[in-house]
Amino acid sequence: MIMPGKLLTFRSGGVHPPGNKHLSEHKPIRRVPLPETVSINLNQHLGKPAQCAVKIKQEISVGERIGEADGFISADIHSPVSGTVRKIQTVMTAVGTMAESVLIEVDSEKTAEDLKKYQSTPDCAPEKLGKKEILEAIKQAGIVGEGGAAFPTHIKLAPPPDKPIDTVILNGAECEPFLTADHQLMLEKTAEILTGARILRHILEIDSIIIGIENNKPDAIRAFEKLIETDSYPGMRIAALKTKYPQGGEKQLIKAILDREVPSGKLPFDVGVIVQNVGTVFAVYEAVYCGKPLIQRVVTISGFVNNPGNYLLPLGVSFEHAIRAGAGGFRDDTRVKEVINGGPMMGKAVRQLDVTVTKGTSGILVLSDQEFSYDGEGPCIRCGRCIDTCPMGLMPTLLAMNARYERIEGLKSVMDCIECGTCSYVCPTHRQLVHWIRAGKVLLRKANRSVK
Ligand code: SF4
Ligand code: SF4
Repeated sequence: MIMPGKLLTFRSGGVHPPGNKHLSEHKPIRRVPLPETVSINLNQHLGKPAQCAVKIKQEISVGERIGEADGFISADIHSPVSGTVRKIQTVMTAVGTMAESVLIEVDSEKTAEDLKKYQSTPDCAPEKLGKKEILEAIKQAGIVGEGGAAFPTHIKLAPPPDKPIDTVILNGAECEPFLTADHQLMLEKTAEILTGARILRHILEIDSIIIGIENNKPDAIRAFEKLIETDSYPGMRIAALKTKYPQGGEKQLIKAILDREVPSGKLPFDVGVIVQNVGTVFAVYEAVYCGKPLIQRVVTISGFVNNPGNYLLPLGVSFEHAIRAGAGGFRDDTRVKEVINGGPMMGKAVRQLDVTVTKGTSGILVLSDQEFSYDGEGPCIRCGRCIDTCPMGLMPTLLAMNARYERIEGLKSVMDCIECGTCSYVCPTHRQLVHWIRAGKVLLRKANRSVK
């Protein structure tokens, strides 16, 4: 039992939306039958999209590189299936942008056979492996942060020499309502995640690794504690966190666990910290020990579907296939109102169901007419709730207004917004605060560019 008095959290703002995790919680990670084709986008990460590295009619095997990193901040992309390249096309992504995408006709039998090559794991302590070789393996595997921003991991793990790192935080908070993929991964792959953490500790030459988990996942906390008590994981500890949204934000985690404030415009490494999502750390383990690139990930499919759960989805599978072949389809096709890429707080509604799973897809949430109703926004009644609950100490109502009326001078703090959605969630008149704040970021970037 986790004692409430010991729970850590950030201080300013935050909310407690209904978790709705019971729908998929503790459901074992399951595979989904392969579709006839997968469409793998080449812009699955922060930075420049990868360059297409295949041709039409080319035969492809599982794990083969189909996109080559282009520039410093970019990442390779690999095929999750064996088959034949049929098209190189421009498609809409799950976040509403357009992307180049490689359409592969799947050979299911060969895929199953080829996937077996990733099952063997050499028996060798991470500390015995060369640091450069590890970083190269992570780069070659095309690993990016699976928790949200999809920042290439090999860059995050090589901070500038003038930014010494003393702590890595493993982010197991998973504070978004409905999502349980990280929770289930922590239960099923506890030892592998801890070995991944040892790899990080080794390459960064640090002593302290802290795993932050919200107290609504006591079994995950216990699973890690049990292993950490053995001698294999020195320097590691668990931080039990209060269940509060957005506890999984990098800055909120660092504040809660280490009481360090990441200043405005700065990054975690400016306060000596690197935060890695637990799914990313598992991918690091697989890259180093199995030679496996990031070609699939665990995704929660939940809400108005017949079999909500946690599914191991290959990259490039369409949301429609994932919902119908994995989660048993919609409970009633006629009542579906929205399909969200991610959770209800930070996720975005998708415009069409043929958008595909990427390295950053943590959840697919289906909302019916019962859960989703929106009658448009009302006027701001100056209640101040958005200001009281903003975890970044911002004034969302003012920022949204300044963005709407293009008052650039009033947008100075807009880049501090982590787009957590808390302000929109609490607003009694349903003002589209995050929408306008995002628009404000675009305005500010444009204005800054034109000044240069
Ligand atoms: S979305 Fe931005 S402005 Fe709104 S509560 Fe979150 S951090 Fe604050
Ligand atoms: S919560 Fe909504 S109504 Fe209240 S101050 Fe903020 S924008 Fe205005």
